[in-house]
Amino acid sequence: MTTIHTHTLGFPRIGARRELKTALEAYWRGDTDQAALEETGRQLRARHWAQQAAAGLDFVTVGDFAFYDQVANHIQLFGCEPERFGFDGTQAPLARYFAMARGDREHDAACCGGSHSVHALDMTKWFDTNYHYLVPEFSAATSFTLHADRLLAEVAEARALGHAVKVALIGPLTFLWLGKARDGERLDLLAQLLPVYCTLLAQLKDSGAEWVQLDEPILGLDLAPAWRNAFEPCYWQLGQSGAKLMLATYFSPLEENLSLACRLPVAGLHVDGIRARGELTSVCDWLPVPKVLSIGIVDGRNIWRTDLDAALSVIKPLLERRGGQLWLAPSCSLLHVPFSLDGESDLDPELKSWLAFAAEKLGELATLKAALAGAGAPDALAAARAAIASRARSTRVHSDQVAASVAALAPDADRRRSPFAQRQALQRARLRLPDFPTTTIGSFPQTAAIRAARAGFKSGALAAAAYDDAMRAEIAHAVARQEAIGLDVLVHGEAERNDMVEYFGEQLNGFAFTRYGWVQSYGSRCVKPPVIFGDVARPRAMTVGWTAHAQSLSAKPVKGMLTGPVTILQWSFVRDDQPRSCTALQIALAMRCEVADLERSGVQIIQIDEPALREGLPLRRARWDEYLDWATRAFRVTAGVAADATQIHTHMCYAEFNDILPQIAALDADVITIETSRSDMELLDGFGKFSYPNEIGPGVYDIHSPRVPQVEEMERLLRKAAQVIPARHLWVNPDCGLKTRGWAETETALSNMVAAARRMRAASL
Ligand code: GLN
Ligand code: ZN
Repeated sequence: MTTIHTHTLGFPRIGARRELKTALEAYWRGDTDQAALEETGRQLRARHWAQQAAAGLDFVTVGDFAFYDQVANHIQLFGCEPERFGFDGTQAPLARYFAMARGDREHDAACCGGSHSVHALDMTKWFDTNYHYLVPEFSAATSFTLHADRLLAEVAEARALGHAVKVALIGPLTFLWLGKARDGERLDLLAQLLPVYCTLLAQLKDSGAEWVQLDEPILGLDLAPAWRNAFEPCYWQLGQSGAKLMLATYFSPLEENLSLACRLPVAGLHVDGIRARGELTSVCDWLPVPKVLSIGIVDGRNIWRTDLDAALSVIKPLLERRGGQLWLAPSCSLLHVPFSLDGESDLDPELKSWLAFAAEKLGELATLKAALAGAGAPDALAAARAAIASRARSTRVHSDQVAASVAALAPDADRRRSPFAQRQALQRARLRLPDFPTTTIGSFPQTAAIRAARAGFKSGALAAAAYDDAMRAEIAHAVARQEAIGLDVLVHGEAERNDMVEYFGEQLNGFAFTRYGWVQSYGSRCVKPPVIFGDVARPRAMTVGWTAHAQSLSAKPVKGMLTGPVTILQWSFVRDDQPRSCTALQIALAMRCEVADLERSGVQIIQIDEPALREGLPLRRARWDEYLDWATRAFRVTAGVAADATQIHTHMCYAEFNDILPQIAALDADVITIETSRSDMELLDGFGKFSYPNEIGPGVYDIHSPRVPQVEEMERLLRKAAQVIPARHLWVNPDCGLKTRGWAETETALSNMVAAARRMRAASL
């Protein structure tokens, strides 16, 4: 007998039209009250459960809803709100929740007139996704108490609507691992945390939840032995609760943790059938048969329609080995894909037929289930087959021209002509910059007028010529201000770009843009990643006009500004029919043409931003080298076309460069600018110890805050930098682009920065 169950590890909570975002922001502004916000939450949950039930899932998932972040929900659930927030029992749970997520603004005003603030919990990336979670803060004094009212109420809500319920929770080991500990070891808290989990599991069972899914994605990481060894005793205890547990792993193969995961005393195991496809047979062999095997067969990290025939041929032999019992699911929570294709009227029908967002992915599960149960689903299967075939042979996907230019790329195309020292001498002779040259990272304030002009142009309300004039005026304005401030290397200011990836994607072949394809990034923030569906090529220059205009207005060098191939790749949904490395190389070739055109137009300095280089690192260290090889090559292919006398800059803004310094050096950019001010230049130490060979601009002021830094502060940071980096290699710049700042503060801050650089010059005479 064949029994297939279907379920999902989680569903997007933001809503088909970002209803949650709208409700949250209205609530934060004070326009609505808590009851209205709770009502929106209730409606969204009800709607999403109904959608899951309609797709024939055997359980709806409860516990994946959050007003800000699911990890923050667990912090409250287990009563471990950090002491530093000073909660004294008088604040309501939701007020405490948003205080942790967004910082305590009321406290600022009431206690100290805003002179110090209770800053929000840190945010960091959820594994290798672009979702950011709030980082739990632990210390030796952390204690845990259960506050399950909200979760139990959601279970009751779903049951009242007639649904069979599976509750999704983060497992205790992953929860501790996600946090940071001020003192002591996070793992030491497990003994205290476990009884609280056990109580919760018992309560969930009593509440009528049929299954509890415990997410332990850390089983796909290189775990220290102490963490690995903690799993068995931990899960033995959880097993005592009597709840039926489904241990969920995803994002990465289990490898050395595979037999451990199969051995744990739980009722079921979910594995990622996309990223760990090679392990499915072993899991099948290791997992004792009474246990349920759940296979994540639909890609939860991408937007492509599943090749259902291929999926069926993977599933069928496994089904036989499992005695006809199997669960099917997306590989991970659907939080990481957009809601549905409904309303995507701007996408042409062919391209649209190749895609599946969260709602369509549920439909794919239903089709697979029907096909395996012998019930057929011939129409749905035929439609899927036709879409897969049309995508595979489409000339929109495959371009002979792109294939030819990739093939024609010389093996040394990723090398500049001469070594850095020779280039440096040529660039110095040509650019004649002072010591400690000053510059910015690219963007200047995106004012309301700029945004209005762009929106008007997009909607057709503003004619192309008028838009062009408006942008040119903005550029002229930015150049004039930079000259007045006394900066040495100017930028055009990026007024025409609303986003550093979208701007290029819109002009490149092979990219598509959705209307509602939003994915939650954090809290109410969503991003709409482009879809790279085909071979990438650049039909015409993308930035030359704006940059050349800026250069024509100043005798000082204007830096051309490009987004690098790895960042474009990382912040898009990418093809699954060729390796990421191939797509990266195609983007690199397109951007390489732009470098050549900029150079030809007389631009002497070109910056290629790669803020996402580090986030592309695979979860397993053993795969880092392979990634870094092709990723750094993609950057070098972009830059390699530049003449020796053209100065190539790159920019990265995220911390922790130390473990990839050799590869950052291997980019061989003439200048790298990085974010260092918030770490008080400590980040620079690694570059110093490594004897980083090329020039560096360590950020001297934090652009995330409206605070204007004083000359002395920046001078102190520069002195600190000069202790680890040779002074002749130092540049002076802010941490990152200034698009979120206002002009007034920007002008003062940059003037102070220029003054700090001048003091450094005077002192080194
Ligand atoms: N050039 C971009 C800017 O200044 C860089 C942004 C980034 O690093 N994220 O806005
Ligand atoms: Zn940056």
